[in-house]
Amino acid sequence: MTELAQYSPDELGAIREAFKEGKMPECPRCRVPMTERPIGGGSFGLGYARKREWLICPRCHRSAIYDIRRGTRN
Ligand SMILES: [Zn+2]
Repeated sequence: MTELAQYSPDELGAIREAFKEGKMPECPRCRVPMTERPIGGGSFGLGYARKREWLICPRCHRSAIYDIRRGTRN
């Protein structure tokens, strides 16, 4: 089994909360701003309004992916 560094659910929640507030989240472990990368761009022909955000910590390289649906809070 490959060891893949990941955030705990609590850490993911904190990142997501910061992101929803319009701030660039920082890595809960390294305290450095995370890097945002766009995902997709229609190559799979997603025909509905859906945005996916991929945030990566430049130091520990943990990543968090969120589906952001417009008008939906969860
Ligand atoms: Zn980190």
